[in-house]
Amino acid sequence: MTIRIGNGYDIHRLTPERKLILGGVEITHELGLLGHSDADVLTHAIMDAMLGALSLGDIGHYFPPTDPKWKGADSLMLLSQVNQLVLDRGWKIGNIDSVIVAERPKLKPHIEKMREKIAGVLQLEPNQVGVKATTNEKLDAVGREEGICAYAVVLLEK
Ligand code: MG
Repeated sequence: MTIRIGNGYDIHRLTPERKLILGGVEITHELGLLGHSDADVLTHAIMDAMLGALSLGDIGHYFPPTDPKWKGADSLMLLSQVNQLVLDRGWKIGNIDSVIVAERPKLKPHIEKMREKIAGVLQLEPNQVGVKATTNEKLDAVGREEGICAYAVVLLEK
């Protein structure tokens, strides 16, 4: 068996009058993430990790923020397109691990739903999709609630 590994990172700014969507789950909060698509940082980090594992570039290449086609796009739909690129090359996902860094709101009640949603799109078992959440201990921009960021690692197998 051959394996490949990839990592991904994303950050989006928090702003009023936007939905907060993480891992495809809409979370009630007074602030949401600003972006051309739905600004789902977790899903974006996972997509970049999948593309990175195969040296296929990054999501900005496939879904440029300058393209009106992706305005307000559902990131889970983009994830399914990235998955197809991986499958077309004969690879499958071994597992994903990820972490969301957010000062607020409490994400723990939403983690299982995120894992189920991501696993559903990628046709994986939820136990292949790790999602963790932490705060930034009030440090830096994330700690000041100016944004939320996410990191992901993906292992591919062939
Ligand atoms: Mg992004």
